[in-house]
Amino acid sequence: MGGAPFTCPWCAASAPPSVAVQRCARCGRAFSLIAGPAADARVQPPPYDPSARRMSVKWSLIAVLLFAALNPGGVATGMLDPVIGVAPINQTEVAYRDVLSIAVWRKLALTEAVSAILVPLPVALVAAYGALTSLRDAPGFAGICGIGFLLFGLLAAILLRRGLVVGRRQARIVGRWGIVTVPFDGKRAFYNELFRRCGLPPAPIP
Ligand SMILES: [Zn+2]
Repeated sequence: MGGAPFTCPWCAASAPPSVAVQRCARCGRAFSLIAGPAADARVQPPPYDPSARRMSVKWSLIAVLLFAALNPGGVATGMLDPVIGVAPINQTEVAYRDVLSIAVWRKLALTEAVSAILVPLPVALVAAYGALTSLRDAPGFAGICGIGFLLFGLLAAILLRRGLVVGRRQARIVGRWGIVTVPFDGKRAFYNELFRRCGLPPAPIP
């Protein structure tokens, strides 16, 4: 079964489709929500193309590897085998012509932000302290600490940026028979192609 197509992706309060980014009347958070071909007869997806290129994104959640793919007939998501990460173990597919709505929102990637603060940031600070205090008496050790500071500082910066700046862009595709949610960070080609295959212009990303 599909879910309610015209709802806020954050709190599931009902929301109207709109071409612009909107704020939920109940929780106040931003998202965009547009009607797909199964809910709006004016939306015409391009004809089925069996040779359409398959595009996919992969992401991991704790210990499992998940994927989403644009197949010729629809958008699919599921779990990949944990050993080689190539073969799908299960999948849900929503046909492009059965898409009722697509919602797009930006969730802060709190796991990355918290792990940046808990692990690499303190290590980087200790390394910086080590480098500064041993600079005169033990320049070799100071050099090693300096390298440690750069490496862990860089890691902390990458994780913080991913968590707080880029966020985790999500698209929720509600179909007649199922729901597919895809984090598409950094995959604008996938995002644009998803909308094109549904017969829609890409929705604005909040
Ligand atoms: Zn809401």
